[in-house]
Amino acid sequence: MTNLTPALQVKNLTKTYSNGFTALKNVNLTVPQGGFFALLGPNGAGKSTMIGIISSLFKPTEGSVKIFGTDLLQNPSVAKQYLGIVPQEFNFNQFEKVEDILINQAGYFGISAKESKPRAKKLLTALGLWDKRNNKARELSGGMKRRLMIARALIHKPRLLILDEPTAGVDIELRRSMWDFMQQINTEENTTIILTTHYLEEAEQLCRYIAILDHGEIRINTEMKDLLSKLSIETFVLDMAKPINEPIRIEGVTAVSQPDAQTLEVTLSEGESLNQVFTQLSAQGIEISSMRNKANRLEELFMRLVEQGIETEDSMAEAGL
Ligand code: ADP
Ligand code: MG
Repeated sequence: MTNLTPALQVKNLTKTYSNGFTALKNVNLTVPQGGFFALLGPNGAGKSTMIGIISSLFKPTEGSVKIFGTDLLQNPSVAKQYLGIVPQEFNFNQFEKVEDILINQAGYFGISAKESKPRAKKLLTALGLWDKRNNKARELSGGMKRRLMIARALIHKPRLLILDEPTAGVDIELRRSMWDFMQQINTEENTTIILTTHYLEEAEQLCRYIAILDHGEIRINTEMKDLLSKLSIETFVLDMAKPINEPIRIEGVTAVSQPDAQTLEVTLSEGESLNQVFTQLSAQGIEISSMRNKANRLEELFMRLVEQGIETEDSMAEAGL
């Protein structure tokens, strides 16, 4: 960790909506400058609520938010200069032209059209939208609208870019090109990036830091590599050449299950090897026709967390994670 002022510092943040529902419960979160941070969580976890507060869409019930050391509630105009936000829902004027949306946004930040035009061209080109610059926003496809939101958020060169589920519902090819673009913005412009996602693969690919939000509470907040190194459990799915109807016994593994007569699932912890599984299966005359990982490691961790409600790093250790 560096001693630089954090890009984002959220302290004791609580949000209770007017209907009495508490969507965030005393959340603390620090995102270092230059970081690429994933805020993960299932639907309803409170991700958009947190981003809504950071975007000044609504006020927190309690707590504070600082952007590069500037308090958002006390000094919103300065804090907002640092921020580029891509909300989950499209919120541009559908009748405005693509390029105008960027130029007008720059205008809100006091940047003249003369100054923002080259920036708009650069962003629209990088995001594959330059050919559409004179089209009305409503004429764009869903994926193009998503990219327009990203270009607009970056027009005033924010130091912190926050994206709320930027790749939800986006096809895999476009998702990959968006990943490349975000990585470029992070490294070349030194923009701190926070994204929310429920694609764990996305977080694993992109992000150096990760926090998991569940029912309005932060369950885990750590560096991705530390989290991955803690994950010592892996489940393999083995397809059997012939159906087996009786229970299969395998010694020295963490768990065995038979979801159907031709499928075997074996869970291994650290120190347990697949070799011993195959030796025992062949001794029982069971032939395996193919094998794959059940899910990526983060996916498994995530499921376990959500199912078991594991709350702290200590209980992670207890659970063998
Ligand atoms: P996420 O983005 O992680 O899916 P949200 O922040 O959108 O989660 O929602 C968190 C919880 O707060 C959900 O249970 C949601 O129904 C509730 N919620 C969101 N907005 C409101 C609102 N305006 N009034 C009451 N409850 C809300
Ligand atoms: Mg959301």
